Amino acid sequence: MDGTASGASSEQAAALQKENCLFCHIVEGKVLSRKVYEDESVIAILDINPANAGHILLMPKEHYLFMPQVPETVIGRVFIIAKQLSHAAIRALRTDGTTIFVANGGIAGQRAPHFMVHIIPRLTGDGLALSVAENPVAAEVQEQVKKQLQAVLGATIGVAAPAATAAGSEPPIAEEEENKPKKARRERKEQAAETEEAKEAGEGKAGASESGADLDTITNMLLGGKGGRNG
Ligand SMILES: [Zn+2]
Repeated sequence: MDGTASGASSEQAAALQKENCLFCHIVEGKVLSRKVYEDESVIAILDINPANAGHILLMPKEHYLFMPQVPETVIGRVFIIAKQLSHAAIRALRTDGTTIFVANGGIAGQRAPHFMVHIIPRLTGDGLALSVAENPVAAEVQEQVKKQLQAVLGATIGVAAPAATAAGSEPPIAEEEENKPKKARRERKEQAAETEEAKEAGEGKAGASESGADLDTITNMLLGGKGGRNG
C-alpha cells in the first residue's frame, strides 16, 4: 500500500547497505580474501573466522541481504556451486562430510549483511555444535502447518495443494515419493513446467512490482518486524 515511499527508501537503504558491506568490498577486491572460486555471478572465499579448516562462504557478487531477494537464476547458480564446493572439500580435504547452511534472518543466526551459503567440512569428532534439536510437534499442528505452507506455495509458485484425503488413505509420509506411480510423477513434472512457463509469461508485466511488494513484506519479517515470529 505504501509502495512508492517504501520503494524509494528501500532502494536508498540497499545502496547504503552495499556501501557498508564488507563482502561487497571483498567482491570488488578492496578487501583481501582467500578466494577459492569466482565466476560472473558468484564468489567463494575461506571464512576468516572458520568453524573448521576449509569453511567456505559462497555468495552472489551482487548485494542481497536475504535469500528471498536473490533472483532465481543467481540462486540456482549459488546452489550448483555449493554442490561443487562440497565435492571439492570432501575430495581435496579428505573430510567425512559437509554441513551446508544458510542463516536467513537474525533469528536464524545471520550476522553478515550479505546473503551467503556456508559450506563447512566435517570430520568425525570435530565437536561442532551444528546438530538440529528435536522439538515434539503435535500431529494436528503439523497438518495445519502443511496446509499453511501449501497455501502460500499455491500463490507464489502455483503448486496446487493436493485434495484433502481421509486419514489413512495416504501412504505413510516417508514412502510417499517412492509409492507414487511414475505417471503421477511425470504429470507433476509437466505441471511444474507449465507453471514455469506461466511464470515467465507473467514476469514481463506485473511480475516485478507484485513480487517487489511481497519481497518488502518478507524482508521486514526477516529484519524482525511485524509477523516475523512463529507463534
Ligand atoms: Zn554486500
